[in-house]
Amino acid sequence: MDLGLKNKVAIVAAASKGLGYASALSLAQEGATVVICSRTEKEVHRAAEEIQTAAGSAVMPVVCDLAKADDVERLVEKTVQRFGTIHVLVNNAGGPPAGSLAALTDEQWFAGFELTMMSTVRLTRAVLPFMIKQSWGRIITITSLAAKQPINELLLSSSIRPGIAGLSKVLANFHAHQNITVNTICPGYILTARQEEFSRARASQRNQSIEEYLREQAHQIPASRLGRPDEIGNVVAFLASEPASYVNGVNLLVDGGLARGIH
Ligand code: NAP
Repeated sequence: MDLGLKNKVAIVAAASKGLGYASALSLAQEGATVVICSRTEKEVHRAAEEIQTAAGSAVMPVVCDLAKADDVERLVEKTVQRFGTIHVLVNNAGGPPAGSLAALTDEQWFAGFELTMMSTVRLTRAVLPFMIKQSWGRIITITSLAAKQPINELLLSSSIRPGIAGLSKVLANFHAHQNITVNTICPGYILTARQEEFSRARASQRNQSIEEYLREQAHQIPASRLGRPDEIGNVVAFLASEPASYVNGVNLLVDGGLARGIH
């Protein structure tokens, strides 16, 4: 199947590693021109070089803290200055911290909202005029299983992600007639640096080795294993594609069957 992504311009947020990196790689392998960002200059440049070498498509790195409105604006401006427009936006960011209601401070709640919700709001708002003008756009937001099935240890995530699903659905309703689709992907447990960090913390709370902890976690997943980042990246590339033109307003679980309800 030709995904029709050749020469499309894509911004992938928070993409020096993990799910963002895998998404940028999949899009670049399909021939898209990709702009990636993260806060750490060295890391985002390294990632851009790696993806460009692996995929042969142009990749532009931008240093950007997605929690800062000015940085988000600059990311979009730089992309348009260099490539003229934006066809695909992948909203993604470092996740909000874990913690209980008693432990999390107001500042942590506001910071979590600023990073997770407002980066999505600001990026989406900035790219939409270009998509409307060209009557073509794909907006994909990487959220979490927690958007559909709350995770007790991830209170902030479980509170904010369902709001992003609501935002996405409203935007899908508004912009479908302009050939713009707006969808979210809800990953289950995918083995990235963030997942490893969480797993290490939980394993040590339980006096387990990380291997033991991951084995137990895998047992709970019908697929009997954690996911790989490319299994998210490939779904991102499909939702960004021309053949996915009638998939709109969907919050798609990619979790190896982990969520228990009928979603
Ligand atoms: P990861 O491996 O830790 O990668 C996070 C990426 O985000 C890095 O490139 C990091 O680079 C960048 N980043 C973090 N904060 C940023 C900021 N303020 N501005 C710009 N870039 C920033 O994490 P991941 O596992 O890919 O997770 C990505 C998202 O998916 C998170 O929101 C996470 O909660 C969600 N998610 C992950 C899983 C999973 O199993 N992995 C499951 C469900 C949901 P810098 O540090 O250089 O900025």
